[in-house]
Amino acid sequence: MRLHVVDHPLVAHKLTVLRDRATDSPTFRRLADELVTLLAYEATRHVRVEPYDIVTPVAPATGVRLSQPKPLVVPILRAGLGMLDGMARLVPTAEVGFLGMVRDEHTLQASTYANRLPEDLSGRQVFLLDPMLATGGTLAAAMKFAFDRGADDVTALCLLAAPEGVAAVERAFGPDAPITIVVAGMDERLNEVGYIVPGLGDAGDRLYGVV
Ligand code: URA
Repeated sequence: MRLHVVDHPLVAHKLTVLRDRATDSPTFRRLADELVTLLAYEATRHVRVEPYDIVTPVAPATGVRLSQPKPLVVPILRAGLGMLDGMARLVPTAEVGFLGMVRDEHTLQASTYANRLPEDLSGRQVFLLDPMLATGGTLAAAMKFAFDRGADDVTALCLLAAPEGVAAVERAFGPDAPITIVVAGMDERLNEVGYIVPGLGDAGDRLYGVV
């Protein structure tokens, strides 16, 4: 398993404004979108490509394009939806699946309430979008979904992670699993109700308001 904490002053600045409780939802959505595009650049470093011949105005040349099957991007509903546009901007030809997961506020256990994923993910590289890697329960369940359907490797893009969540994913799949986690920031810990500290609060509420 590979953990990459993106170290860049623009990422740190945008994350600081996201964390600020005075930041309103429209600004939060725009910044989350911008941050995801920066994370996506790092997260797609090992996306598979194949050679492809073109002719420039000067000479024939060989370039690359995304290999088949195309990568699959999966936002985990609800909050992951706020990361989809930022990812799709960088990889517009990727296919998109959806996974709806909710965590019980008392037990902190994740359960699936919606699934729009292909049955067969053989040969696929899967990119999961989930802003907050807190206990790791939701992300581990989504990764299991992908591996059970044959995904080759899974990359998770998260805005923030807690060490407990990263450890839980590693415990669930082992240190050699083909998993990459790319985060904009690694925080101190979880609090007693499973929120990341200092974190940014409830990412879904910050994006879309309290429902
Ligand atoms: N989910 C959130 O939205 N925020 C947290 O801090 C933890 C889980």
